[in-house]
Amino acid sequence: MPNNKNDLTVCAPLNGPVLSLGNVPDDVFASGAMGDGIAIDPLGDCLHAPCAGVVMHVARTGHALTIRADNGAEILLHVGIDTVELNGEGFALLVKEGARVSDGQALIRFDLDRVARQCKSLISLIILTNSDHFELQPVNAQTVKVGEPLFHVSPRSTSTTHALPADEASSEASASIRITHRGGLHARPAALIRKTAQGFSSQSHLHFAGKSAGCDSLIGLMGLGIGEQDEVQVSCRGKDCEAALQALLAALSVPVHHEVPTPVVVAPRRAAAEAGVLQGVCAAPGLVCGPLFRLNGIELPADPRNHAVDEQLQHLHSALEQVRSEIRDTLDQARRSKDVEEQEIFAAHLALLEDPALLESATCAIEQGSAATHAWRDAIQAQCAVLLGLGKPLFAERANDLRDLQQRVLRALLGEAWHYKLPAGAIVVAHELTPSDLLQLSEQRAAGICMAEGGATSHVAILARGKGLPCVVALGSEVLEVPQGQRVVLDAGNGRLELTPDDARHAEVHQIRSAQKLKRQQQQAEAQAPARTFDGVGIEVAANVASSSEAQLAFANGADGVGLLRTEFLFVDRRTAPDEQEQRQAYQAVLDAMGDKPVIIRTIDVGGDKQLDYLPLPVEANPVLGLRGIRMAQVRPELLDQQLRALLQVSPLQRCRILLPMVSEVDELLHIRQRLDALCSELQLSQRPELGVMIEVPAAALMAEQLAEHADFLSIGTNDLSQYTLAMDRDHAGLAARVDALHPALLRLIAQTCSGAAKHRRWVGVCGALASDPLATPVLIGLGIRELSVSPPQVAEIKDRVRHLDAAQCRQLSQGLLNLSSAKAVRQACHHHWPLS
Ligand code: PEP
Ligand code: MG
Repeated sequence: MPNNKNDLTVCAPLNGPVLSLGNVPDDVFASGAMGDGIAIDPLGDCLHAPCAGVVMHVARTGHALTIRADNGAEILLHVGIDTVELNGEGFALLVKEGARVSDGQALIRFDLDRVARQCKSLISLIILTNSDHFELQPVNAQTVKVGEPLFHVSPRSTSTTHALPADEASSEASASIRITHRGGLHARPAALIRKTAQGFSSQSHLHFAGKSAGCDSLIGLMGLGIGEQDEVQVSCRGKDCEAALQALLAALSVPVHHEVPTPVVVAPRRAAAEAGVLQGVCAAPGLVCGPLFRLNGIELPADPRNHAVDEQLQHLHSALEQVRSEIRDTLDQARRSKDVEEQEIFAAHLALLEDPALLESATCAIEQGSAATHAWRDAIQAQCAVLLGLGKPLFAERANDLRDLQQRVLRALLGEAWHYKLPAGAIVVAHELTPSDLLQLSEQRAAGICMAEGGATSHVAILARGKGLPCVVALGSEVLEVPQGQRVVLDAGNGRLELTPDDARHAEVHQIRSAQKLKRQQQQAEAQAPARTFDGVGIEVAANVASSSEAQLAFANGADGVGLLRTEFLFVDRRTAPDEQEQRQAYQAVLDAMGDKPVIIRTIDVGGDKQLDYLPLPVEANPVLGLRGIRMAQVRPELLDQQLRALLQVSPLQRCRILLPMVSEVDELLHIRQRLDALCSELQLSQRPELGVMIEVPAAALMAEQLAEHADFLSIGTNDLSQYTLAMDRDHAGLAARVDALHPALLRLIAQTCSGAAKHRRWVGVCGALASDPLATPVLIGLGIRELSVSPPQVAEIKDRVRHLDAAQCRQLSQGLLNLSSAKAVRQACHHHWPLS
């Protein structure tokens, strides 16, 4: 009975028989993981407020809400079990989030019949979600009517409403946040959350729509079915709960890099049945023809279920270890080649392989006599069913990542070689391929990929686009019936698989492909020669690289030098900083890879959102506006000194040019000049390397003349310059199409940079992504750019573009572009003035 103002009586929100939580047909609720509480099997169709309070949270699907009572108790009211799956159908919310409600007020009206027919159970929950801070005493009624007492709540003696400093181990912090990850909390964002939680000793959970999952389980997190813009509750319990909470909130609100697939042409599936053509959805464009090669999945025979437990557990563990080590190799390779998407996908796979829910389920089955193969397959299939049951396409697609691990571990268990014998130029057909299949097939030079199932946003699709491998998904099961070896045409851009192309069509495809190939070969043949415009203006076409192996590729592709070495490659993904000697060797290796050509080495550009484990920097409210690039010298000057010392020891020093990122005022440049002079004296060097400044914030572009007075050259970083000029995050999914460096505002800044530099006879290059866009080449030359630093495979194409331009005409026409109204208008004008062949 309440006897002080902090005590509360919670009344029945529904009519019906009362059950204890242990009798609820749902493991999470029954275990009390969500908090202590009581259930009612409802006889009516309206949920009422069990006490006065404020509606803290309303499930998007209308089947649950949480009320915070005036004494701080938080009460979750959840109608039925698994009712989230009705996706709001059959529920009418009568209150809004944030509203104050009175005791007994009607909150949700629901379709009793529909919930009874379509959901697991009508049994509804009344849960005290902050049971750590409050004690619940049931009234012990067998049946209740709305408004009759159900339980009493009183504060626990040691609790506060937030944390428990008296006993740090049980401190708790929680908060809610809206999910901004594109497509919701699917595998890669979930892996990020797991990794973040692993950095703390606290136990962390996400709560959503009446369900909870520990942040240590990727599958549990994905199983919550959290969509983009859903609001979730994060709770952390333990000594470092506050820090864990802040880190998780940050991770939940930061979009995963490159999460959004490049837009692709999506053809409607089987829009108009065309004889001999299967219509699917384009996942990666390209036109190819070749023999069809069908891949079949692994089928297991029936299991007698009488295996020796220890032996099977051992098998499973060694198979898992084998696959883990294969995935680690893939990850290393992806890190070396800076393939961020590949890294994220396979990091998520590694996390899935360690998932406690999967391992527990497989182990349990083995303990009951199953073979390791069958136990693993069944564990995966059960989790796939959860993901498919969420009714959200993106989550359903992630079931494919689980199937990938199913196949890989089965192969390891069965000792099957994982190498397909592909006929030359094969177009591979499968029910649904997995990311690791795709890597394997790409290595084996498959010409194209077709899948009966799958989606254009799947990981396989993302990888196929990255590899330039034409790929069509969702072709339907007919594609699996096409005879092995039949010659087909895959017109992936249009989502078509032509099953019976005639000779003329074959010839046409060959002709188109040969023309493309020929052009590429011609460009490649000329790649080593310098690039000059028609009217004799020399343009240096250098390459952006991030390692000595990329520098070798750039050199082989004809790069006139390295225009930007991003030195971060040496500093990331490790526990301690590289020492001076390691740095010197790494920089020397890049110089050695480039013959006698110049190499521009940018000093480290970390800080802000690129954090290093061994370099704790303050948490930033606005990371991209914080201590990044050269500003790091403010807080860790010794790190920059060490890098400069390493750079000064490469030979020959005249081939090494140093570039400073994120400079915004002349003093920053002067300071580094002084440091360089001091270090040169220390090392008894008479020679000084050239020192350049990146123009990547508007302030630097506007001050180009003053900077050029003290710099040897300027290099424009159009990626950041776009971000800071347009005030659009360069990684923002929703703004991706608008962060276009051909915006007239950017062109004006580039023009101003070039004219400022010209006053001091300094040259200006571009090392941002705009340099690799052939449509931009004439504009940049016209505005006065003399060096373009591009991605290594594009050197030949950009050199070819330069050779077909007239610099005087570029100069004249590009002035007009400065007055246009948008990037779109500039692009249109570029197509008109300088069409791409
Ligand atoms: C740029 O900002 O354009 C640039 C080249 O630097 P990064 O992309 O490494 O930030
Ligand atoms: Mg930059």
